[in-house]
This record gives sequence, C-alpha cells and structure tokens, in this order.
Amino acid sequence: MPCGKGFGGLTAWKRMPVAAMVLPALFLISGESKALSDIEIVLSSSRIAQGECGTVLVRTEKGKQPYVRWLGGPVFLVPESEGKGWYGFLGVDLSADPGKAYLEVDLSPSGEKQRAELTVVAKDWGVRVLTLPKAMVEPDKKTMDRVKKESRIMEETLKTPSSAPRWNGPFKRPLEGEVVGPFGRRSIINELPRSPHSGVDLRAAKGTPVQSIHNGKVVLVGEHFFSGKSVVIDHGGAIQSMYFHLEKILVEKGEEVAGGQVIGLVGATGRATGPHLHFGMRVNGARVDPMQVILLSEQMGRP
Ligand SMILES: [Zn+2]
Repeated sequence: MPCGKGFGGLTAWKRMPVAAMVLPALFLISGESKALSDIEIVLSSSRIAQGECGTVLVRTEKGKQPYVRWLGGPVFLVPESEGKGWYGFLGVDLSADPGKAYLEVDLSPSGEKQRAELTVVAKDWGVRVLTLPKAMVEPDKKTMDRVKKESRIMEETLKTPSSAPRWNGPFKRPLEGEVVGPFGRRSIINELPRSPHSGVDLRAAKGTPVQSIHNGKVVLVGEHFFSGKSVVIDHGGAIQSMYFHLEKILVEKGEEVAGGQVIGLVGATGRATGPHLHFGMRVNGARVDPMQVILLSEQMGRP
C-alpha cells in the first residue's frame, strides 16, 4: 500500500475544530502561569510515525515568533497569513527511535521552555524484493569509488545548514502519476539487504515534465550512478526535495525556481528498470514520506 496509511494526524486536522485540537495537557509543566497563557500549541497529532511528519501551530500573545526545537534541532516556522500563529513541520526519520519525544517552545532563546509530549511510533513500511543485473548491484572498484564520491556529495548537500523558509502554504506534487514504488520499504536486492527506499516512485512516461514542489534554490545537479540525472532543491526552512532518474535536467545549480516550474523531464537514467520519477523529501534532515508531507501541507495556514 503506497501512502494511504498513517494520516491519522491529517484526519485530526480535518475533523476537529481548532479549539478542540489544542492540547492543554501537553503544555507544561514548568513554572509560570503567565508564560503558559502566552503560548498556545496546536499539534496535527501527538503521535508521529517513523518516516512521517506532523505539524505544529504555535500562537503567541503578541504574535511574537517563538523558538521551537524538535528531536535535537530547530524547527523553522512560517507565519500564519492572518492571526498570531506560526507553523512548522516536525519530521521523524525512517529510523528514528520510537518512544516519547518532546517539542520545546520558547519566546526567547535562553528562557524557560515549555514542552509538549509526543510519541514517535514504530512503523513497518514493508519489504521489497528485487532482482537486478549483477553489474547494477555489485559494481567494480572504479564504479564503487564513483558511488562513494556521489553519495558523499549528496549527503553534504543535504546536510548544508538551512536558510529561511522559501515556502509558505502547500507543497504540490511534482507530477500526477500514481505511486508505484512506496516509501520506506526495506530493500532486498539479489538476496542482500540494502538501504530502505527513501522516496516514492511515481509512474510517468518518459519525457513527462517534472515540477518543483515549491519555491526554492537548486543545490545539486548531477548524473549519479544510482540516481541517474538528479536534481535537489532546497526550499529553505530545512526542507529539501529530490528528483531522480531524469531524462533531461532543465535547471542549473544555484538557480532560484518557483513552485510549479518545470525542472526536468522523466527518464530512466541511473539504476532504474524503466521510466519513472523517484521523488524524495527531507524535513529537518529526516527521511520522510513526501506524499504524506504534501497532504499535510495542504492544511497549513487554514483556519
Ligand atoms: Zn525510487
């Protein structure tokens, strides 16, 4: 099953009036009642599965921007179009430890924090078993060196500290095709375990235009052994998107792109058994199901 499951949070957004979504019990804990009344925290859900995202909306007394931390890093926030709220995504990596996790909210970087308790829930995304030609799976030394170099370039790109969010409002799909390769499945290729599928494969014919899912800056353009012709876009605010196996790349590194702009054409370059788009997203460094993030983002900024 591709991406239909695990939207409990989203359902909660849709069904519950805003007031009911406020989770006062989560507010904390620490000292002053004055501080408590200044900050209102609204979560899409208090449970987030491995490989998924939640959202937080923080409303502050005078609309002052709060500082929010989640799983050891800052959460970038965008302002609500009206009102006193600030939105952000809470990414949970595919292999994050299940258990209690705390969202820390504060109005000054050094002040006392308020915490909301969430639960990271274990999720079994399943297994895919593939048989591929030996040359694709067990590359020779020269190819291995190339693969290592390319994976280093990719990781360094993805770890680059983020700039301010270029996004506000919903992210859009890069193309319309259905999910034929779901997110998160562990791979067994020629009987050996490999890293899990960190994006989705979308069905599309060769040459189909691929659109940037939001405003951003092109931070990687390359032709890699596994991912083929590849584009990575940094949307700021610790959100990046990846587009692999392209037939043609239509942007350059460093270029600013608008949401919906065509950045390349679908192909089957790299290790691909046929034309499709591999589409991935990272949120706060976490590998997350991009289709779930897009659905969740549609709720952002709505009253
Ligand atoms: Zn893929």
